[in-house]
Amino acid sequence: MITIDCKNALAIRDKLLVYVADKLEALPILKSEKILLTSIDDSQNIDKSLALSAIAEFLKSVNLSENFQVIPKGDDIKIEPLEGKEMKEKLAKLGEKKKELFFECTHCGFMTQYEVELRTHKLIHYI
Ligand SMILES: [Zn+2]
Repeated sequence: MITIDCKNALAIRDKLLVYVADKLEALPILKSEKILLTSIDDSQNIDKSLALSAIAEFLKSVNLSENFQVIPKGDDIKIEPLEGKEMKEKLAKLGEKKKELFFECTHCGFMTQYEVELRTHKLIHYI
């Protein structure tokens, strides 16, 4: 089992989880700020170097490889942000993209990808 500590990289945690788990064909478990990766087939161990390269690939794919440091430590991998001016802007952009995809109900926080669905949903608040 490999642990990826995202305590200081929460903004990318969910996307990283999907990417790395898919790449390694591993089973991801989200445990507060950490991603635990176990192999689907219990007899096999997850190759740490593969995990590291998957993380590096992910960071590259979201154009953040210069903004995060990947620190291996035993079976743990820690992801630490490198302070920088561009960093906040990049993370904000990443957050924005996510928001664009979703319409949120102002009454209860219900989220959907479809505006029509939100409109239909909102009706329940006006009964
Ligand atoms: Zn609602």
